[in-house]
Amino acid sequence: MSRAKTLHAPVPPGGTIGILGGGQLGRMLALAAARLGLKTQVFCDNPASPAFHVCDGHTLGKFEDFGALAGFAAQCDVVTLEFENIPAKSLEHLAELVPVNPRAEALRITQDRLDEKVFVRDAGIGTAVFHVVDIESDFAPALKACGAPSILKTRRFGYDGKGQAKVASESDIARAFARFGRVPCILEGFVPFAFEASVVAARGQDGSFAAFDSPENIHEHHILRRSLVPGRLTIAQNKAAKDIARKIGDALDYVGVFAVELFVMKDGSLLVNEIAPRVHNSGHWTIEACAVSQFEQHIRAVAGWPLGDPARHADAMMENILGEEAASWADYARRPGALHLYGKAEIRAGRKMGHFTQLSPLTRK
Ligand code: AMP
Repeated sequence: MSRAKTLHAPVPPGGTIGILGGGQLGRMLALAAARLGLKTQVFCDNPASPAFHVCDGHTLGKFEDFGALAGFAAQCDVVTLEFENIPAKSLEHLAELVPVNPRAEALRITQDRLDEKVFVRDAGIGTAVFHVVDIESDFAPALKACGAPSILKTRRFGYDGKGQAKVASESDIARAFARFGRVPCILEGFVPFAFEASVVAARGQDGSFAAFDSPENIHEHHILRRSLVPGRLTIAQNKAAKDIARKIGDALDYVGVFAVELFVMKDGSLLVNEIAPRVHNSGHWTIEACAVSQFEQHIRAVAGWPLGDPARHADAMMENILGEEAASWADYARRPGALHLYGKAEIRAGRKMGHFTQLSPLTRK
């Protein structure tokens, strides 16, 4: 039987939240925790982690180093994560020492695109057609099931379009499969969506649920360029997105904030692309447009506090500042809106360096 400590008393102000992962999401979680009088400890393997600048203390260690994780756990009242590729075994180990939210099983499912798609389908929610691709003999039946074109994706460790290839024939699949190192893959039918959207939602320890309004998301080169709220979503689609998130949160017995990436079809229906078991780039607009941001909401959920009100008091447009665009920080600083820079030491092409949010009067509830 698992000795995981799940239910726990609320972590009071002055208590410490442990965050696995030290990127910009961890940084914004730490800032939100500080506002509630909570301390943060961050665990990451990168000495240049942006979250290290704003937390109460950090541990530099590998996510596989159980000794380092135990030392970290001893300093925390509860542990959470900002990065989904933490080995599930490490989370299970941590969960024997300190409460961990979300739980390892939720992470295990969402780390694997096949398990995730099966889970979503079993929850009665629509996805792209998909088929497993483990070995050469899977190519033909997968292509038959998914049609051409379709997208070959590695089952694990893909993000921002990495480990993905559009394919139209068995030889395309063979080439992409070889390029990915013949790791387990999934083939997905190409979805002719009208546009993309997401829903960022929270579930508390007691099963309480709160979802933010759904943004329309515009990607460039597979990287999020901007999120618009309300964007092109209708009131009915916004509600349908929240219903999907509630079903998923309940089925995963999830605690914390998570995001569901959606395809909005021309007939108005929604399909799930993927689930992110963490705060999400498409929820950054909530920092300015909601009384309680996605970051504070996550801290509240994992600390066992009541969830905050996710109501939006303004329309919002969030734009990512990518790569070299960060060199124009002074131009952004002159524009009306909220500038966030993540303190990353090194500019790299396409790297998320910051974001900028503009508010406008609320047009619709
Ligand atoms: P993902 O890493 O799965 O979130 O995919 C990154 C982006 O690739 C998505 O935001 C879509 O723009 C596109 N994409 C992924 N899967 C599909 C699909 N099955 N059909 C069409 N476009 C897709």
